[in-house]
Amino acid sequence: MEKLIVTVAPTGSVPKKKNNPHVPVTPKEIIECALRCEDAGAALVHIHVRDKDENPSPDPVLIAEVVYALRDRSRLIIQVSTGGRAGTDLEGRIKRIQMRPEMASLNTGSVNFSTWSYVNPPDETEALAREMKRLGVKPEIECFDVSFVQNGIDLRDKEAIEEPLHFNFVMGVRGAMPASIDLLLHLRSSLPAGSTWTVSGVAAAQLPMCTHAILMGGHSRVGLEDNIYYKRGELATNEQLVERMVRLSRELGREVATPDEARAILNLPSRK
Ligand code: ZN
Repeated sequence: MEKLIVTVAPTGSVPKKKNNPHVPVTPKEIIECALRCEDAGAALVHIHVRDKDENPSPDPVLIAEVVYALRDRSRLIIQVSTGGRAGTDLEGRIKRIQMRPEMASLNTGSVNFSTWSYVNPPDETEALAREMKRLGVKPEIECFDVSFVQNGIDLRDKEAIEEPLHFNFVMGVRGAMPASIDLLLHLRSSLPAGSTWTVSGVAAAQLPMCTHAILMGGHSRVGLEDNIYYKRGELATNEQLVERMVRLSRELGREVATPDEARAILNLPSRK
């Protein structure tokens, strides 16, 4: 089995300091936290930024501050979120990737969450995918539901995304896919040959889903974006969640990829 890529999603759009004081929200906090997670064994960092009130921000200046600093100070693969809580307008999403991060998330469908509808029209998704291709940004196809997988494959067929495809299965969000091993098996079997995949389990589903991904040959995303607890009643830090995933993977006989090894696994250009 190839080595495990541990992604850390340290911030996200939802948790605030009042929920977990370890959530990094300023660019400086996000940068420092990502560096600690790299030391702990993360190969890839999934970036969201916040405004001064800790709300999700689409501000490309804040994003660039984080991306440029991490490019300078780490080997981490940097993936910028184009997720919708910071706005779904196409122009704003395109601005978030102008600094050409190596990767960006790409949501390939629409879903009703418990309190809002996350709408990603097909034409706008395709336009964003084509912009990523033009800029040399590899998309991580974010799947909140089963249909998102085929939508990603359809974008490949339209030559908006290049193979090999990389997917992230987000499981356990209310209103979207449940965190289920049966479903994870189905999702894996629906991918084109040569694809790679990561799983993001939300809240208490993070640990079991990521552990299954280790055993199934996928990759694991941990971090406070998806889950703020280490265990019931005990708040986590991002580093702790990364360290646990690294430890588990090694115990289960699977080595953990360095950022440069992860680039090779994801077919990203190597970095000097
Ligand atoms: Zn995200």
